[in-house]
Amino acid sequence: MDPHYARYPFFDGARAAVGDADISPAALIAEDAPAVERGLERVERALMEGTVAAEEPHRWSDREELLSYPIARILVSLVDTPAAVDKYAAAEATTAHDRFRADFETDDDGLQSTTTRTVSLEDVLREFELAADVRPERSTPDSRRRSGRDPTQYWIDVGAYLTLSTADWGERWRLVNRELATGAVRVTTDELHRLLEEAVHRRVADGLPFEVRGSSAGDEIADALEDEVASIRDLLNDHDAAGRTDVEAVVPALFPPCMKALVQRAREGESLPAHSEFSLVSFLVALGMDATEVTTLLDVTDETASRIATRVEYLTDAGGSQFAPPSCASMQSYGDCVNKDERCETISHPLSYYTSAVRDAGDVRDWRETVTDDE
Ligand code: SF4
Repeated sequence: MDPHYARYPFFDGARAAVGDADISPAALIAEDAPAVERGLERVERALMEGTVAAEEPHRWSDREELLSYPIARILVSLVDTPAAVDKYAAAEATTAHDRFRADFETDDDGLQSTTTRTVSLEDVLREFELAADVRPERSTPDSRRRSGRDPTQYWIDVGAYLTLSTADWGERWRLVNRELATGAVRVTTDELHRLLEEAVHRRVADGLPFEVRGSSAGDEIADALEDEVASIRDLLNDHDAAGRTDVEAVVPALFPPCMKALVQRAREGESLPAHSEFSLVSFLVALGMDATEVTTLLDVTDETASRIATRVEYLTDAGGSQFAPPSCASMQSYGDCVNKDERCETISHPLSYYTSAVRDAGDVRDWRETVTDDE
């Protein structure tokens, strides 16, 4: 099997590779193969963290990675909510974008011949039938110094540019604000990668959700995946009415014990497990905190700050609805429900705890004001 397909299972060739694997998704599901567990992880990480990368990458073979993709598509179709479909496709695209960039850098270093796991920019352009639409504009060190531009820019035909970019990406993407010449638009390397991410998003979303039930084989698949679908629905439903707050002040002293503990661990420099970091950051985002406020409160810098800032942006972008922090039940299952106190006995969600604590406290001072005053 071409190892590219484990990393890019939405490539056209990957579909044929799944056929060649001589085992159908139905058979995998019937025997509860590892690809099913990885497929579930793929969807859960997409919804919770905006990535489909495995938490333990070396746990899965290339074959399991590849086969987990059709399983994930079946799961997303069975869950069948627009938010799940969109966020799943976005997470596949974001993950692909990160992998493309890493692969292209390897390719630029001239190292590609030493490994078969990377793809080149040309491979990806060909995959999305963009090879004839995109041309590099190599710059010299002198011209770079003069222009201050990226080392490499590209020209992409207007038609392809307009097809892939969308109005809600902001002013700078509008054609009137772009440099145009002979029917092509000049884009930076990062912008070209953004357009390729969009091409992936559209390919993944294409055909989702599809009808799984309706035949005896489809009904069998749906029945066999009932537990996995329930688990994904639980994740989405963790934002029930209790998972909201209309309290606008940030008062760390009134946080529920679980969140106080996570804040303290982060401030002490501990690298939190992904699910714990998600719980904490989604809680802080639900209070209306932005990336700078979150990284300041957690006293993190460098790579950790940048990862957390990306997570804040992702959660904020999700509009908060399906990405509210986990309920107490989920926190307990993660092992993050600690130091319970009396108020914990009266609520089922950390945000409910906080809302109740702030209301009982009466007049409170927002932590953000104290930070501003200190400056
Ligand atoms: S009961 Fe809920 S609010 Fe209290 S510590 Fe556990 S998870 Fe947090």
